[in-house]
Amino acid sequence: MGRVTGSVRTAGCEWLEYDYGPGLVPEEGPGTFTMWRYRSLLPLSEGPVRYPLPIGGTPLLSVPALRGALGTPSLWVKDETRGPTASNKDRATALVIEDGLRRGLDTITTASTGNAAVATAFGAAAAGMRAVIFVSVDCQEDKLALMTQAGAWVFQVPDGYAAAVDLSRAAVEEFGWVDRNTGVNPLTTEAKKTVALEVWEQLGRRMPDVMVAPVGDGPTLVALEKGFAELVACGVADRKPRLVGVQAQACQPLVHAWLGTTPGPDELDAASTVADGIAVLRPAIGDAVLQAVRSGDGAMVAVSDTELMEAVGLLASTAGVGAEPAGAASVAGLRSALRQGLVDPEETTVVLVTGREIKAAGSPTLGRVSVADRLDDVRQALGMVHP
Ligand SMILES: *Cc1c(COP(=O)(O)O)cnc(C)c1O
Repeated sequence: MGRVTGSVRTAGCEWLEYDYGPGLVPEEGPGTFTMWRYRSLLPLSEGPVRYPLPIGGTPLLSVPALRGALGTPSLWVKDETRGPTASNKDRATALVIEDGLRRGLDTITTASTGNAAVATAFGAAAAGMRAVIFVSVDCQEDKLALMTQAGAWVFQVPDGYAAAVDLSRAAVEEFGWVDRNTGVNPLTTEAKKTVALEVWEQLGRRMPDVMVAPVGDGPTLVALEKGFAELVACGVADRKPRLVGVQAQACQPLVHAWLGTTPGPDELDAASTVADGIAVLRPAIGDAVLQAVRSGDGAMVAVSDTELMEAVGLLASTAGVGAEPAGAASVAGLRSALRQGLVDPEETTVVLVTGREIKAAGSPTLGRVSVADRLDDVRQALGMVHP
């Protein structure tokens, strides 16, 4: 099971290595189609998995009407909205919590633009852990309500998402909590890479030509690159697909870095796009995103909020898939890439739909949400005794 043989730091991102060979890839045929199917390529020791929620094994949809609408006969949708909390954050959450359970830890923390926090709150609730979440003050009310209903403690950080990451990481250092911060803990990319392994299996053990994914902090796209690269390293595939990363026009630091251009003032505003899930001003592993896109001869594209909303409608009306704007970004990005000639309509292309709009019944639980600037605010709210 998952013998990690080394760890390298590349482009600011920790990359675990295994003793690659065909034996690490599951045999063709039946077997449970969940994320744990790929245990041999995950950093997990022997023993039963205790994480209680179903995880991974999401459908690859053949979307005939969407193919017709876009003129792309070999298009597929990898539907990550089918997880327990309706976004691709469920995979990373599951592996990080499983690891935490094995290490006997009782509290998990993360900063989040919203979806990672909801996934963490629900995953922790199911696993019997305490979740302590740090969000920016403009995090959606519905997402806050869901987190608190699942029993999480939520801290709103006035200085925004980057400050929320700093505070969550300081809490890891100080209190020894499990670190779910995306891109920081290598387990987050290890878990998300299983999307690539599933796509390859679902296409009949074939690589797509192109895979399109939204980019916020970066782990989703970087993990696809790692999963595809590992299939090549195991000797079961001979090439990787090109990756196309998609950002929102209003917050597109990595598109500008890719093009070598300078963003305008209205292109670095995380609060002004409908795509909150990818509105990240300082991506955690941006350099690794650029390296992954470059290594496969891919591209980065930006899409407007209007294009994002059109993509939400198109996915609903032609594929029956409900997506939040960030979740539909790869469809909007594919249309842009087709227009720019970056993708040929005949190519086998997979768009990753990363999340569905989630609604909460009711409001955030009183007393579970407070404002925090410093760790002392956290200590006080949780009734922790100062050392
Ligand atoms: C987090 C998220 C993304 C982007 O993922 P990163 O790994 O941060 O780049 C895309 N879509 C949705 C819905 C998300 O929640």
